Amino acid sequence: MRLNYTLSFALMGILLLAHLGCMPVESQNAITGKRQFVSLTPEEEVKLGLQAMPDMVKQGGGLDPDQRLQALVKAVGTRVVDNSAAKMSGYPFEFRLLADKKVANAFALPGGQVCSTRALVDHFDNEAQLAGVLGHEIGHGVGRHSAEHLTEAMGINVLVGIIGVVASDPNDPNKGQRAAGLAALGGNLVNLKFTRDDESQADVLGLRFMSEAGYNPTAMLDVMQILKSLGGGGVEWFQSHPNPENREEKLRGEISRRYPAGVPAALTLGRA
Ligand SMILES: [Zn+2]
Repeated sequence: MRLNYTLSFALMGILLLAHLGCMPVESQNAITGKRQFVSLTPEEEVKLGLQAMPDMVKQGGGLDPDQRLQALVKAVGTRVVDNSAAKMSGYPFEFRLLADKKVANAFALPGGQVCSTRALVDHFDNEAQLAGVLGHEIGHGVGRHSAEHLTEAMGINVLVGIIGVVASDPNDPNKGQRAAGLAALGGNLVNLKFTRDDESQADVLGLRFMSEAGYNPTAMLDVMQILKSLGGGGVEWFQSHPNPENREEKLRGEISRRYPAGVPAALTLGRA
């Protein structure tokens, strides 16, 4: 009898959560093939990424005023998405160059917002190196890594509140509440750490996307050399993405797996 009561309470709980639409749902990622638990829909990921973007841009010193480089980052990122499996994800990817000349960094917010700092881009010799880094960040988006960790890190109640807040009408009277919810969420996005598995998956996806878009994947090995030569000082991407030696070895393995007869000559380094 007691067991039955317990079962019915559990069932009621499950029904309530299912009704709220915030049950972490196990789904198979169409591009990575990985089964994952995510409470957010792709549409919600896009909304959250767009909400957090202005703060991230501000932290990176605003948009870089060099229109030629800004256009190049956008063009290379768009070429990688539009000519690879990343396109299948349906996320509206956007690429921005941030003015920060001190901290070499690149990051992805959920739902397709990708940024790189000027300090990182200034070290690149060609388009393909940029394509490698942007491809890696696109990989985090396609892999839904932020959404997965938000699901793990936050209680379902918190997510319900946040989704309610984000979904609410911008003209409604509860502006303060919405702002507080978004601020809390923005903080969580900034503090989200990707795991080593996420980084490996983003590396593999990045190589795949850049190659499908016609860029020579060996450029990503050059990026690892650049990170090593910078030695970690002022290089955020180095600190949040550790062990360039191990990554380089894995990247080499992945390149030979993709191209056992050598990288095709048609794959380009792009403009210098
Ligand atoms: Zn990464």
